[in-house]
Amino acid sequence: MKEIHHWIDGNEYKGTSGRFSDVFNPATGEIQAKLSLATKAELDHAVERAAVAQVKWGATNPQRRARVMMEFVRLINRDMDKLAEVLSSEHGKTLPDAKGDVQRGLEVIEFCIGAPHLLKGEFTDSAGPGIDMYSMRQPLGVVAGITPFNFPAMIPLWKLGPALAAGNAMILKPSERDPSVPLMLAALLQEAGLPAGVLQVVNGDKDSVDAILDNPVIQAVGFVGSTPIAQYIYERAAATGKRAQCFGGAKNHMIIMPDADMDQAADALVGAGYGAAGERCMAISVAVPVGDKTADALIERLIPRIEKLKVGPYTAGDDVDYGPVVTAAAKANILRLVQSGIDQGAELVVDGRDFNLQGYENGFFVGPHLFDRVTPDMDIYKTEIFGPVLSTVRAGSYEEAIGLAMSHEYGNGTAIYTRDGDTARDFASRINIGMVGINVPIPVPLAYHTFGGWKKSGFGDLNQHGPDAFRFYTRTKTVTARWPSGIKEGGEFNFRAME
Ligand code: NAD
Repeated sequence: MKEIHHWIDGNEYKGTSGRFSDVFNPATGEIQAKLSLATKAELDHAVERAAVAQVKWGATNPQRRARVMMEFVRLINRDMDKLAEVLSSEHGKTLPDAKGDVQRGLEVIEFCIGAPHLLKGEFTDSAGPGIDMYSMRQPLGVVAGITPFNFPAMIPLWKLGPALAAGNAMILKPSERDPSVPLMLAALLQEAGLPAGVLQVVNGDKDSVDAILDNPVIQAVGFVGSTPIAQYIYERAAATGKRAQCFGGAKNHMIIMPDADMDQAADALVGAGYGAAGERCMAISVAVPVGDKTADALIERLIPRIEKLKVGPYTAGDDVDYGPVVTAAAKANILRLVQSGIDQGAELVVDGRDFNLQGYENGFFVGPHLFDRVTPDMDIYKTEIFGPVLSTVRAGSYEEAIGLAMSHEYGNGTAIYTRDGDTARDFASRINIGMVGINVPIPVPLAYHTFGGWKKSGFGDLNQHGPDAFRFYTRTKTVTARWPSGIKEGGEFNFRAME
């Protein structure tokens, strides 16, 4: 059986814990590798070595660090097919979707090539007589990134790109479900010229995460994953004085106004609801048509589109719409929630429970489900299902629709479909959610903007990528400097305002 280990000091590092977790091929259900889970001692060793490597890396001028990113971009493009293939084989998503996963991470690395500009700092000439004041952005030192299974290329790249370009060393703790792509990225970074030890990939589970939180050298933690873990990590990191940004789960609503183009809205919902088997934090999982006529028109268009979806393994060709979910446990949880929806009175208008794929009976495939007449008290509405299940909540008015999205505990993304600019503008202005689409179903901001949810979808300060990431991974030092000719006149003992 293939074993997967760690990447420490620029080499594969064989773990010694004797503890392993299974890496599946979700399409077949087979275990394809065993992942070594790090001990606290191994994690601490990686941190100690990273702290040594960071000193020189942090003192390397930003332009040289940016050149490593530039070469990294070239190498990722060179290996795009290989990365996507490995990603699909461990995650299950289709190959075009896997390439999108790499691509949206790559775009953040491209943004990081601008690090010298982003790190320039601020300068005030003559803040007082003969006094200059300047603020520098300095790296934090050793930082950590803890990432989820659903974007095994994109989110590690969102974390490591800005952190390294800003002069930090990083301990990356990827998801134990699909660990190979982060290791491949570490090898590519080394090939691009990143000094050994600056990026350490330590594989593990809760033990490694707790070792990160307990390690006093680690200055900041960037986390992406489910909300309970995000909150746990945020609270523990903050309690020990670490900077933390922890992004959590989602329940993204799409509001469909009566004046929307119904075909466009239905197409958008199918892509955003079922793409990647619904395993996206920006997936639309709740459709909110305004008015019964809108709801009927929408459902009528959704049903044939959903029934046409092609579900299969990534090897079956690029016309597969989505693949299996990540584990048998994820599949069981989705089916349990579907059953709860039926039991609690929702109307299951597309039933994917009997989905079966010949030759892949042990794979973790879940057929598409569509619920109508879901109400806010039901578990399928309150919970993040993270599967190919779309719930329709019928709203009587625009106010009721926006109120639903605003009252939900999650606040990652949302969308509105309408032809009316005034409604769209009102929605964008009032909604208490971090990322908003207007006739755009999955409004993931591009690399030079920032990505982050509100409410229980995000804990801590500042967003991911864009300028915020450079603020998160640096701290500001402000220097007030005087080179007086008059110092020979004697010292000053009063704390004085600038004249
Ligand atoms: P997860 O919370 O199970 O795991 C995320 C990371 O936390 C992994 O590295 C895992 O090893 C670690 N972890 C798991 N259990 C832990 C514990 N008890 N203590 C400490 N660490 C632990 O999440 P997942 O299933 O890998 O990813 C899916 C979730 O991530 C969904 O909720 C999804 O919405 C969310 N997500 C959010 C965003 C965002 O930007 N808001 C983006 C992608 C995914």
